Formats: sequence, C-alpha cells, structure tokens
Amino acid sequence: MKFVSEPTYKKYIVGPFERFDDRLTGFSRGRVDPAGSKYEKMHEKSVENIKRKIRGKTVLDHGLWVSGRTVEYVMRQTQYGRESEAQFNREFKVEQLTLNEMTRIIKKVAHWLGADLVGIAKLNRSWVYSHWGYQNAHYCGAGQPGEPIEIAEGYQYVIVLIQEMDYEMIKRTPAVEPDTDLVYSKMGFTACSLATFIREIGYKAIPSVNELGINIAFAVDAGLGEMGRMGLLMTREFGPRCRIGKVFTDFPLEADRPVDIGVQAFCEKCERCSRHCPSGAIKSGERTAEPWDESNARGLLKWPVHAMKCLDWWVKNGSHCSVCIRVCPWNKRATWFHRGVRVLAERDILTKFLVFMDERMGYGRQVIDFFD
Ligand code: SF4
Ligand code: SF4
Repeated sequence: MKFVSEPTYKKYIVGPFERFDDRLTGFSRGRVDPAGSKYEKMHEKSVENIKRKIRGKTVLDHGLWVSGRTVEYVMRQTQYGRESEAQFNREFKVEQLTLNEMTRIIKKVAHWLGADLVGIAKLNRSWVYSHWGYQNAHYCGAGQPGEPIEIAEGYQYVIVLIQEMDYEMIKRTPAVEPDTDLVYSKMGFTACSLATFIREIGYKAIPSVNELGINIAFAVDAGLGEMGRMGLLMTREFGPRCRIGKVFTDFPLEADRPVDIGVQAFCEKCERCSRHCPSGAIKSGERTAEPWDESNARGLLKWPVHAMKCLDWWVKNGSHCSVCIRVCPWNKRATWFHRGVRVLAERDILTKFLVFMDERMGYGRQVIDFFD
C-alpha cells in the first residue's frame, strides 16, 4: 500500500464534473419506476419465494433479512441527514487539544462505537448530492425529493466509517443475505452515536449513511481504499465486503492521506465480478467515459454499472444481491496466507494467475448453511 498525494480516481477525470443529483441514482429511480416501486416488487417476490420453499429464501431466511434492518429504519427516520443540538451540554467545549490529539480521540471513539475502519477527509463538496432523491427522502424524511442539498460552510470535514460484513453470510448470496441489513443497523448506531459524542463536546455533526453524498468518493478521499470495477469501495482489509457511513462535522481534524492499494491495475486484469454478475450489469473490458445508464456520473473514465439491470435482477431474485462482493478475489479474511497473497496483488504481480487460482481453489462459491 502506498500513500498518494491525490485520490486514484483523479487521473480518470476526463471532463467537467457536476454534483450528482440523488434523483438519478439507481436506488432512487427504482423507488419511482413507472411500473411500480422495484422494492415493493422485490419484497412481493420474496413472499412468493417463501411459498415455493426455495432453499435460502424460506420464511426463516426472510425473517432474518428483515430483522437485520430494524435499528437502521429507526435511525434513518430520526437521525440521518439532520443537524441537532447537544442533548445536555450546551455550555462547555473541548479545548486546548492539538489537531493530532482531536483526531486520535475521534478515531478512538469511533472504533469504540463499532467502526472497523475510520478515515477523515476535508469535505469535497463535489461529492455532495445536488438534490434529495426519492429513495433517501422516502426512508429518511430529512428532505423532500428534488429539494436542494447544501451542507453548511462550517462543516469542513467528513469522518468516514467502515464496518465489515460477515464473510460466511456473504457466501449465501443471491439467496437471502441478511448481513448487509444487519451492518446497516450497526452503522446506524455507530454513526449516530459518534455524532452525539461530537455534539456533546461542543461541535456540530450530521450523521448519514446513504443520504447526502457519494460515500465511495468520500471514503477514497479519506484513505480507506479505492473504487473497483464493480463500482464499490475496495478496502485493503475486507475488499468490497463492507458498508460505509459518515459524519459531517465542524470539529477540526487532521485529514488522512489517500492510498493506492493496487486495485486499478488488478481490476483491469480480473473481471471476475463482471463474469459472474447474474444481470450482466458490470462492464467488462476497458474503462469508458460513456454512460451506460442514466445513473452513471459523467466526466469520469470508469467501468460503469448498469443500475437498472442490477435492480431488475433483485426483483427477479426476490432479495438484494451481493454476488459481485462474494466472488471478488479481494473478499478475504485477514489470515497470514491472504495477507501474503495481498502483497503480490497490491503490486500487480502475477495478477491473472492469482485470479485463476482463486477461482480454482473454490473462493467465492455460494454456500447456504446458516440454519443447517
Ligand atoms: S449486486 Fe448482483 S446484480 Fe448487482 S452488480 Fe452486483 S452481482 Fe450484479
Ligand atoms: S472481482 Fe475483480 S474486477 Fe471485480 S472489483 Fe473485484 S478485483 Fe476488481
């Protein structure tokens, strides 16, 4: 891993970059699809799957899936995307600490509250959505669809939080994989509690998970990884098997440096997510600046992901999908063996051979055994 002076996406910017409108994201478009909300349809299909007694999509699996999301729904409706006053201390402000000490304290508290990784970036407002989207407005309610989004000038930093998803649970997908939902709930707890901590020590904080801006870009800026072919954040520790949350704050902090962990060269040679995606939603071959779908941002050379193909598959499947995460060779446990192989992967040494061997050794296969 190398620290770099600017995030690795910078060299792929080829045109003017405008703030992205959340109404154009795949999730948002899926909420207001002319044929009906794709999420409603996905859940109707999940009930059909129960009737058909499909392995991994039974009533037990369904219960597990929905249970994981319980806390997240509450956090969204009451905390995300909102500024709030401190509950008790409106008088004292933490002071006489250096930037370095403040940063160390914030990271320590974030880890204590459950974050597996924490990074800090100066807030790049290019990544803040221009307007509220349908899906985030629907679940969160802090804004209405189409309402402009502005994060007030004082919020100079974004604290980016990463939580790992369970390695065994991810193996279940595209059968019901409830860890995505559980980790959303855990992130809700972590992000909102960190925001409470910051408010109670005299500063401002807005917690958020999917609302307000592009998490992957914030995470790359905060030195937590790079964007991979499948359009997700690739971390050094968990690959794409993680979820991202964030807290915007005026608490003065030291920003982390972005990193190059070798993902760009690796993804050029790998393509495994593209080959295994059940909906054909991940581009193979070279990067392109041509949008493939209305949800693709313009001005960036990348591998576009076709959001509607992906969501249509979720509907057909009756559950969300993480196959691209399951099959990615970077989705590994941190054993000494995998850490050793990662040294090669990060330096683009024998990449094609590593991808070939990864598949031959059975990594990334589906295993549905939680209730067995
Ligand atoms: S979530 Fe599933 S359908 Fe969507 S891009 Fe990943 S593998 Fe393809
Ligand atoms: S599966 Fe391969 S190409 Fe896809 S994101 Fe992972 S490393 Fe990159």
